[in-house]
Amino acid sequence: MTYKQTAKRIENIRNSHISRRLSFDERFWNKVTVLDEDSCWIWHGAKKRTGYGMMNVRDDKDHKRREILAHRAAYELIFDLIPDELLVRHMCDVKLCVNPKHLKLGTLADNVQDMVERKRHVGAMEDAECPSCGTVFTLHRSP
Ligand SMILES: [Zn+2]
Repeated sequence: MTYKQTAKRIENIRNSHISRRLSFDERFWNKVTVLDEDSCWIWHGAKKRTGYGMMNVRDDKDHKRREILAHRAAYELIFDLIPDELLVRHMCDVKLCVNPKHLKLGTLADNVQDMVERKRHVGAMEDAECPSCGTVFTLHRSP
């Protein structure tokens, strides 16, 4: 889907008053504020303690509930499945942003490099994401 199509789809979901079960992408985009194509699209659903947006989903295969990170879900809804060894990086540094334009695939090393280059939280702890399961953990930078 293009950005315009996505924005249109979100509008249609909001305008629909028919009572029915919402699909995953409907539930997802219901929790996102889209101002325009280039701004950060802010997630208003549940948040992890690390500041990333998250959503509970039920796995089709084993019917177990799983948590997925909102920006990873956005990437997969718009583009494609995320390869196991890669993670989704925020080019805008806004953890709650799910604008696919601001998301880019990369390795854990890329992510650490981003953080070092931008000198976020100098001397503090930083978050990184496990490329296989999406779990966010904290990296300690040496001063
Ligand atoms: Zn953004």
